[in-house]
This record gives sequence, structure tokens and C-alpha cells, in this order.
Amino acid sequence: MTHVFHRSPKNPLPLAVKGAGAYITDETGKRYIDACGGAAVSCIGHGDVRVLEAVQRQMSEISYAHTSFFTSAAAEALADHLCAASPVPLDKVYLVGSGSEAVEAAIKMARQYHLERGEASRKLVISRHQSYHGNTLGALSVGGNPPRRKPYGPFLLEEPKIEPCFAYRYAKEGESAEDYALRAANLLEGKILELGPENVVAFLAETVVGATAGAVAAEAGYFRRVREICDRYGVLLILDEVMCGSGRTGTFLACEEENVTPDILTLAKGLGGGYQPIAAVMCTANVYDTIVNGSGGFVHGHTYSAHPLACAAALAVQKIIRDDDLLANVRARGAQLQERLQARFGNHPHVGDVRGRGLLQAIELVEHRDAKTPFSPERRIGAAIKKEAMAAGLMVYPGAGTIDGVSGDHVLLAPPYNVDAETIDLIVDRLGLAV
Ligand code: PMP
Repeated sequence: MTHVFHRSPKNPLPLAVKGAGAYITDETGKRYIDACGGAAVSCIGHGDVRVLEAVQRQMSEISYAHTSFFTSAAAEALADHLCAASPVPLDKVYLVGSGSEAVEAAIKMARQYHLERGEASRKLVISRHQSYHGNTLGALSVGGNPPRRKPYGPFLLEEPKIEPCFAYRYAKEGESAEDYALRAANLLEGKILELGPENVVAFLAETVVGATAGAVAAEAGYFRRVREICDRYGVLLILDEVMCGSGRTGTFLACEEENVTPDILTLAKGLGGGYQPIAAVMCTANVYDTIVNGSGGFVHGHTYSAHPLACAAALAVQKIIRDDDLLANVRARGAQLQERLQARFGNHPHVGDVRGRGLLQAIELVEHRDAKTPFSPERRIGAAIKKEAMAAGLMVYPGAGTIDGVSGDHVLLAPPYNVDAETIDLIVDRLGLAV
């Protein structure tokens, strides 16, 4: 009998014994292509000795020093690297241990920013339906993932939400992409006015929506309009790039493509690539200066914030991405993956959409392709496809859409940035079998 309290104890899991490149091997010797990086985490593949060496080196120097006593060379170097890699002006980095922690820290940072400016009534964070921002109670209150929320409400604070920018779902017949992007962004202005700008701290959104909707990027122009609206009402813009950042979509930050600078941005999964638990909150000099020149500091922190081993691992991962020019491969293999998915599933009767950016791609599964009606909740098939895929030696990340009753299940693909062309073909073949 196992003593580990697994997520779904009734579905016994295979035991992973080895990770190498794009593959994980279980105790029976069966090999699985890790086509989703777990949950879009493993960005340089498994078992890279350069990361192992960096962590070993760090461990031989110092493994742990609490951040209320010391900073570390690893944390300093990682923050420098991230700020240099960011083409948008994000100047300060706060390091934590997980995506949820990063989102919590980002919200608190935004609240403290307004407090320091004497705008104490600003408390509300507007977010979007069909989003995921983490599993802690605060992150769940801004997230829009009903199955994850259902057992645990009511939340400490129920935050207001607007419809996301999902053209394939919400654009009207004949509406241009540009008009739709503006209409979707203007929902934010409507919400700010309804709540009163003096009550709104921030707008929080995933730049490319990952787990809950399946790799949905907003239409061009959406985030630029959102930025204008935030500026007009003194609302901070927080972009959650826990999943889509760190190079996953082909640029270091997904918001580079949108040409928008947020006030605060979160990174996690591809930051440490799964070698250590780590996440980051990046912010502008304005946010940092306002807090530091106000009460003196950010009243926040975890025991394992900026853990030196995690920082050393993340720095090694980020240098590998840079030195091996992996973002070029993300763009090339991402285009190949999308093209193969289109070819294989574009006319499939139960695939309503193929979409994504870079190496974050998804297919949406529906009862009827043309009407795009989702399967009924009893017939959710994302999880069934995951099971079939595992049998075929393929890891994919399923998600149930249905927030509004109109989205289908999806299967998310997020292979490592250094995946090769043959493996991409194999992924699509095996997924075809599973579907
Ligand atoms: N934000 C986004 C966009 C995510 O995809 C996730 C994880 N799926 C989180 C936050 C939470 O991260 P973690 O699971 O590391 O707490």
C-alpha cells in the first residue's frame, strides 16, 4: 500500500524512474514521450547534466540561507539574467517557489502599490473567466476554473471577472478580428466603471490562456487596448505568464508579441524547467520604487523564497535556452506541430479547433465539429484521451473547457523547446491513435 496521498487515489499511477530528453521511462521500462512537459514545465527536456552540475556546485557552496538574513549569488545572477532577457522594461524580480505563490505575491504587490500612493480603497482585482492562476485560496478567487474551485468555496474574496478574448467562441458573425479585440478589451472598461475605478487594484490575465482553455492567444490589439484602459483608470496590469512565459510561445515573454509592457508579470514553469520548484514576479521600476520609497519594503515572503538551489537550476536552464538558441527551435517546431495537427485533425468530426503559439498548442474536442457543441459533462473525453495516449506511450495534458457551457474539452501539447522534427511527427501520430 502506498502512503503517498495522490491526487486521484483510485487511479493508480505508473512509477517514473528515469527522464532523458523528451522521454520519461516507468519502472516496467515503458517509455513515454513527454509531449506536454507535465503541465508545460519541462522546457529543456529531462536529465540535462548542465543543470545537474549547476545545482551540485551550488549545493557544495550553500544550499539554503533565509532571505531575511542573506541574498545569494544565485538569486542575484538569476534576477540579472531575467531582466536582461526581458525586452520590455521589467526591472525587479521577486523570487518564490511556485506559480500560485507568484500570483499571490503579484496581487499583494499591486495592493501595496496603491496603498503607498494613498489609494487605500483600491482592493479589487478584475480577472477573466476560463483562466487559471493557481490553486491557493487567493489564486482560486481570481481564477475561472470551476472544477478546481467547486469543492473549496466560498473564497476569502470573490473577485469580479469578465469574458476572455476568445475570438473562436465569442466573436460575432462577420465581426473583424480587430473589432472583436476592441470589443473584448472594452469589457474591462465597462467593469472598471461598474465597480468604480477607485476600487480597482489591477487587471489580471494570462497572455496566452493555457490549462483552462487550451492555448488561446488573444486577438492582436486586445492587450494594447487593455493597457490603454488600465492607464486611463490607474489600474495595474498583471500578466500571468506562469505557463506561456519563459520562451514557451517562441519569445522570452509572450507579451513581446503583443508589444505591451505589464506593470507586474509572473513566470514559473519554464523558468526552472522542472529541475527545481521556482517562480518569479517581475515588476517595473515604478511599482518597485513606489513600494520601497513608501513604507520601505514588500511585506511578504516565504521560507523558501529565492531558494539558492532553485535559483542555480533556473539560471542554468535559462542559459541553456539562450546558448542553444532554443527559441528559434520553439518557433520552427511550433510551426511544424501546428501544421501537422491541422493536417491530422483539421477535418476530424470531433475536433472543433486547432490553435496555439510556439510550442504551446492544443486541439479542442467537440461533439459536432461545425456547431462546435461540447460533449456533455458526462462524456468528457479529454481525460479518456490522456489515458489512451499514456497507453500509446505519449503524455498529453487534458483540460475540460466548459466554463460557460460552450467550450469543449481540449488536449494541450507542450513538448520541450529542443524537441526534434521526428519527435513532433511521432507525437501527432500517437495522438491520432489516442483520439
Ligand atoms: N498561473 C498559470 C497561468 C498556470 O498555468 C498555473 C499552473 N498551471 C499557475 C498559475 C499555478 O502554478 P503552480 O501550479 O506552480 O502553483
